[in-house]
Amino acid sequence: MKLEEHAKSLAKRAKSRVGDTVVAYEVMKWPEGRLQQFIEMGLLRPLSDADEIRCPGCTDSCLIVPIRTILPNGEPYSEHLCGKEGLIEIPDFLFKCWQIVIDKMIELGYYQGPGGGSKEQVWLDDTPEYIPNSEAIKLTDGKLLLPRLSKILKPDGPIRYMRRGHRCKVHIGDFRGHIKSLGGDMFSEEAFEKHFSQAEVIKEAIQQSGERKGR
Ligand SMILES: [Zn+2]
Repeated sequence: MKLEEHAKSLAKRAKSRVGDTVVAYEVMKWPEGRLQQFIEMGLLRPLSDADEIRCPGCTDSCLIVPIRTILPNGEPYSEHLCGKEGLIEIPDFLFKCWQIVIDKMIELGYYQGPGGGSKEQVWLDDTPEYIPNSEAIKLTDGKLLLPRLSKILKPDGPIRYMRRGHRCKVHIGDFRGHIKSLGGDMFSEEAFEKHFSQAEVIKEAIQQSGERKGR
């Protein structure tokens, strides 16, 4: 697989439910030098070593937690007692894993993110203008259900959203606008106001506890 094609497929996969972690077994099938290239380009970032890996001894692909140690000469050493192969030494590389850096994928044009006309935005943890899906549907007093909301969250849909694994957040302004546009009794100003007065209280409480911690 060519580098560009490869990067694009990784970016797509990072935004899917498979997730953004790449493990050593996968990398071993890549063309030589590709991992180093991706790291140098900033498309992959090393994560801390995995505890659990697939057994390299047998063909059962069972997950194992090998015993790891550092030898007196400073070299890492790991072993596992495999049911089929007996005691096997585990190469240190097998514990390595990497995270796909989606922001870099977007920057280098391997993934269409914000600005590309897509309603899907890059995931950020701290975004006051985005709220979890489960919170959003509460604002309609239960008139809009989660499956229906999930259906309209797509790149060409009406609402900006962020997704990471199973988690999903919607842009509160877009959401409000969309619900209003549906008309009827879907939109409840009261439910929105109730949510925001609560949100303010929670925000203040968090800030205060933060200040206390800082002291
Ligand atoms: Zn085994």
